[in-house]
Amino acid sequence: MHIHSKLPHVGTTIFTVMSSLAHECGAINLSQGFPNFHPSERLQRLVFEHMQRGANQYSPMPGLLSLRERIAEKMERLYGRALNPDAEITITAGGTQAIFCAIAAFVHPGDEVILIEPGYDSYRPSVETVGGIPIPFALSAPDYRIDWEALKRRITQRTRMICINTPNNPTGTLLREEDMLALSRMLKNTDVLVMSDEVYEHILFDGEQHASALRYPDLYERSLCIYSFGKTYHNTGWKTGYCIAPPELTREFRKVHQFNVFSANHPMQAAFADFMADPSEYMGLSEFYQRKRDKFQQAMAGTRFKPLPCYGTYFQLYDYSAVSDEPDLDFCKRLTVDYGVAAIPISSFFSHKPNDKIIRFCFAKTDDLLEQAGERLAKV
Ligand code: GLN
Repeated sequence: MHIHSKLPHVGTTIFTVMSSLAHECGAINLSQGFPNFHPSERLQRLVFEHMQRGANQYSPMPGLLSLRERIAEKMERLYGRALNPDAEITITAGGTQAIFCAIAAFVHPGDEVILIEPGYDSYRPSVETVGGIPIPFALSAPDYRIDWEALKRRITQRTRMICINTPNNPTGTLLREEDMLALSRMLKNTDVLVMSDEVYEHILFDGEQHASALRYPDLYERSLCIYSFGKTYHNTGWKTGYCIAPPELTREFRKVHQFNVFSANHPMQAAFADFMADPSEYMGLSEFYQRKRDKFQQAMAGTRFKPLPCYGTYFQLYDYSAVSDEPDLDFCKRLTVDYGVAAIPISSFFSHKPNDKIIRFCFAKTDDLLEQAGERLAKV
């Protein structure tokens, strides 16, 4: 039998490849992005309490209304947009599922989708699965700044969507107000939609503010904004996120979502709804992770790796050109096997692999592990 693959060039995601290798080698795993510490005890207890009280069957398809109301309150407070929880917010089985549905709901076969790279590795296969054509737009180290004039030249009659991500995984860079306004101007009078991946919205350093698409009315009217509880509450394995979009876009989004997962985890949603009543949990996250970033940079100070600027997320890029001229994937594998520290090669975030000697470390780890990683990497 001939299997006609929709994704002939896709293998196993780099996050699984590197985490498995780290596990096999007993290495410190700074590759796949997840915390090695526990979510709040109270939050865990709330999940259990809701299970005991019967939140064990399907939640409503768009998610629990109580949770969507809490989200609407948060977004109004932070980004100044009043949302209709019933018509504009959908709870999803994590950010990645929301991204897939946002793309699948709008991209027709032959439609072009502009992917700013380096970018999260699920965007491209999501576009390809539904027959869209990825149009990569590559940015350069160390600033990874977007030249909006150059980007504008990539827009054609067939452009259906542009995917943005701030704070950015893997670079730790941010889109700022001037970027969002340039994007908004560029798309005025077009039918191009925006998938705005904002899953690291609460992790920005040195006093930076998150330039959410929700803040800009002209941009929001064409945007599907994606968020994640996992990044915010240290529970990536609970796979709960959400999509915020204007009612007409949300209607289309839900047509796909309902036949993709139908609905997200019920007890987790109920627990998040209670837990979100206290904003201090997420309002302190930037400070928490800034300390981790600084701790990791300190731990790395005795190595020959050179840090790139990091303004947000829990990822830090390092240039290893003083250490080796191996390709980044080979280098990451050797680091894991020989030195016991796993990282992610930046080439995994590009369609056309650059020759950069740059790798990504996740610093959402306990201080002792960050210190130990620094000691091991000092031997490289
Ligand atoms: N977003 C996380 C990262 O970039 C991992 C997500 C995943 O493993 N699918 O590391």
